Amino acid sequence: MGKLAVVGAGVIGLSVAWRALQHGWLPVVIDPSPCSGASWVAGGMLAPVTEAWPGEEPLLELGEASLRAWPEFAAELGDVGLRTEGTVVAAFDSADARQLDILAEHLASVGRDVDRLTGPELRRLEPVIATSVRSGLSVPGDLAVDNRKLLTVLRSKATFVQQSARAVRTGEVELADGSTERADVVVIAAGAWSRGLHPRLNSLVRPVKGEILRLRSRPGSLPLGRTVRALVESRPVYLVPREDGEVVLGATQYEAGYDTDVMVRGVHDLLRDAQSVVPGLSEYRLVESAAGVRASSPDNLPLIDWLEPGVLAATGHHRNGLLLAPITAEAVVAMLNGEPVPEAASAARLEAR
Ligand SMILES: Cc1cc2nc3c(=O)[nH]c(=O)nc-3n(C[C@H](O)[C@H](O)[C@H](O)COP(=O)(O)OP(=O)(O)OC[C@H]3O[C@@H](n4cnc5c(N)ncnc54)[C@H](O)[C@@H]3O)c2cc1C
Repeated sequence: MGKLAVVGAGVIGLSVAWRALQHGWLPVVIDPSPCSGASWVAGGMLAPVTEAWPGEEPLLELGEASLRAWPEFAAELGDVGLRTEGTVVAAFDSADARQLDILAEHLASVGRDVDRLTGPELRRLEPVIATSVRSGLSVPGDLAVDNRKLLTVLRSKATFVQQSARAVRTGEVELADGSTERADVVVIAAGAWSRGLHPRLNSLVRPVKGEILRLRSRPGSLPLGRTVRALVESRPVYLVPREDGEVVLGATQYEAGYDTDVMVRGVHDLLRDAQSVVPGLSEYRLVESAAGVRASSPDNLPLIDWLEPGVLAATGHHRNGLLLAPITAEAVVAMLNGEPVPEAASAARLEAR
């Protein structure tokens, strides 16, 4: 045990700091603008199964291990808006239905059965879905979290140095004002910005932009009871309801460096696709548009490992950083304490790449 410097106050850095504190470490979190990254923008789905594609089995296993840890993680933190109603996935046209069939067959082949539903069965679960939707899936085990509630709670448990890190070396972080923060171990958890902090991350982390909208139901508008995902002419779209009537509609995905402008094209595409599956959305109020930058890696798996003695990376969580926060924090604390890392997290080690 000793002093820990965590660079980055998103869901990953804050979860690591909180768990490390519980294990006797003394963490300080370095961030010029805590909670301003992808974690604040995100949808909050905790949904490994509906993100699973052939070839990504290690990611599915990692996501499922973290999903199992979520109820206890959330219960320890208090009210973080955890929702347990599950997900339905709607196919807009027959080509989308074929893609969902492929997903369902793949999941069955790796031992994860999902329920295939007809249009009427889908609408019995989620009456907001358009009558034109003919088929879909139900994934009862998925969860969702209110990412902003979660960050507010995690933030209250951390101690901060509100500065930008310029460079990380064994035992120290050089800060933007020229001063140095010393620590026994430094954890780089600065999301998409991690790659500028250590040469080994340069080629492993890249920014991937995502836009998202926040809508709010009005008196008389049909509420959503659970997360609705859809494929609309092969484009994925999702709607995640919050307890207070807010619905998060996401998300676009493209390579645009660190740009966080919300583009007219992105807003248009999201609203068009979501309304073709949930027509009642036209009666919702549009309350926010935002863009964030995901930290992506070449194989879509996160990077959780030692970069050199005294410097750990916990980054590259791409589309799944909220889902993977509990297992990432558990793996980092195990590495700090020299204990065995959870089996599913071994795919996130550097030597595995
Ligand atoms: C539109 C969108 C929707 C998403 N939806 C979901 C979802 O539904 N479910 C899910 O699991 N995941 C989702 N994600 C992915 C998820 O948001 C990310 O994987 C996760 O937030 C990554 O967390 P992080 O802590 O690594 O990075 P971030 O949240 O990006 O935090 C990085 C932090 O580092 C700080 N920082 C940057 N540079 C420095 C520096 N030099 N010194 C110090 N600090 C620095 C920043 O200020 C920031 O606070 C979504 C992402 C986007 C963009």
